Amino acid sequence: MQQIADWLKRLGVEQYAHCFDENDVDFSILCDLNDQDLEKIGVVSLGHRRKLMRAITDLRNIEKNAPAAASPPAAAPAVPRSPDFAERRQVTVMFSDLVGSTALSVCMDPEDLREVISAYQNRVSETVRRFNGFVAKYMGDGVLVYFGYPHAHEDDAEPEEYGGSGLGVAEASIMMHEVASHGGGMSATSAVHINLFGPHPIVVKGTAEQKARWVPRLVAGEDQCCFGFTEPDAGLNTTRIKTFAQKVPGGYLVHGQKVWTSTAQVANKIMLLTRTTRYEDCARPTDGITIFYTDLDRSKIDVHRIPKMGRKAVDSNAIFIDGLFIPESDRIGEEGKGFSYILHSLNPERILIAVEAIGIGQDALRRAAKYARERVVFDRPIGQNQGIQHPLAENWMYLESAWQMAMRAAWLYDHDKPCGAEANAAKFLGARAGHDAAWQAIATHGGFGYAKEYHVERLFREVSITRLAPITEQLILSFIAEKVLDLPKSY
Ligand SMILES: Cc1cc2nc3c(=O)[nH]c(=O)nc-3n(C[C@H](O)[C@H](O)[C@H](O)COP(=O)(O)OP(=O)(O)OC[C@H]3O[C@@H](n4cnc5c(N)ncnc54)[C@H](O)[C@@H]3O)c2cc1C
Repeated sequence: MQQIADWLKRLGVEQYAHCFDENDVDFSILCDLNDQDLEKIGVVSLGHRRKLMRAITDLRNIEKNAPAAASPPAAAPAVPRSPDFAERRQVTVMFSDLVGSTALSVCMDPEDLREVISAYQNRVSETVRRFNGFVAKYMGDGVLVYFGYPHAHEDDAEPEEYGGSGLGVAEASIMMHEVASHGGGMSATSAVHINLFGPHPIVVKGTAEQKARWVPRLVAGEDQCCFGFTEPDAGLNTTRIKTFAQKVPGGYLVHGQKVWTSTAQVANKIMLLTRTTRYEDCARPTDGITIFYTDLDRSKIDVHRIPKMGRKAVDSNAIFIDGLFIPESDRIGEEGKGFSYILHSLNPERILIAVEAIGIGQDALRRAAKYARERVVFDRPIGQNQGIQHPLAENWMYLESAWQMAMRAAWLYDHDKPCGAEANAAKFLGARAGHDAAWQAIATHGGFGYAKEYHVERLFREVSITRLAPITEQLILSFIAEKVLDLPKSY
């Protein structure tokens, strides 16, 4: 048992030595353990189980290659990986260890959680800078490991089963708010949240086989998914999409085009919304839409980057699909029912966008207040003028109010209660408040607000997207008018 204790110590998880001891786990059976066994013997931390499973896999490989080896290796052997991969893993594991699953995190209050996430954010930024790197990959990995997929309470899916922590939208909101508040803007947040809620239809409607095939790879950061929903000729009227999946033996043949497909430059998977029955042949506009999760086969899909205003660390693209074969096994749920499946992730996504906009707005507001305290004109700080103070005070109040609405929406969602109105309202208010604060920060800086040096112009560009996507303000207002105020549908 001492050997196991030493091995655990080398891996930095010596606190579990007693679990192995009490369950008589020694090196003779270690390689037979799987993740569930580890959990059963008392390794409750997801991050630690992952670390142990990697080390056990390494041991298995060594055994396979040298069956006669009688004693454990002197140090936990590493699978040869690129430095980039190792670094990425390190960040990921650090995040899950710190925030997700350690005994420490159990007794953390939200303020501590904020500090830890902030530390993570700084560490990730450093790493990404060092590798001249792509934010989405590093950040997204870490967050997926931590959160996996949030409550899929539309059915009995258990996100923890597939590597997630099963935390709720409230926790995800705290995290995303923190990520947004430190200068990375939507570049940082989108990089994280895209894979946080986007694959939700898999969790909600995928078969057990599909979940087992897809989710662990997403959680482990091995697959990256993009979302092909929006089409140039359909816009917000999703029922008017034209990308068509024709039934052929064994699957479907797809032709069509999408626009604004984020991360398609780097993704190896795509969640694709198609028509399988033409709009004209359907009883209801929402019928005849089918959703797939499949390989992004670049021999059949052309991807063209769209130059844009902000959020530049995450690529946006127009994609053209020409004869993509999708096996039937890659269809999510029933043919023709896809429209209802995408609705599942809308409210969480709106809540997250809201808190991100709020975080960016608060970041801008902090910078504005600092500048107003320090900049002296007419022999006094500009912040001594009410004309400067009052708009900033207003920004603070609107941002705080939007935060309360977002938290209310998150609470409702996490408690299985209807939250459509609140989630939409939070997205509307958060985006407006964030946008207004960012503009006021520019105004407060005067001419220097226009300079890149103070970053407020960037925050303004970053936050703008939250007013436009994934749904515009007009459509939210129409939703509230119709669903809350019972006014006639206007479109
Ligand atoms: C940076 C970025 C990333 C994105 N990422 C993705 C992605 O990964 N995957 C994806 O599928 N999509 C993505 N999108 C698309 C995004 O969801 C859409 O741009 C958004 O839903 C708006 O659609 P649209 O641009 O076609 O607007 P349109 O539908 O063309 O609308 C234009 C304007 O008209 C208004 N309008 C339209 N109809 C009405 C009406 N009846 N009443 C009042 N006003 C109306 C709208 O509110 C809007 O102001 C992304 C967009 C951006 C900008």
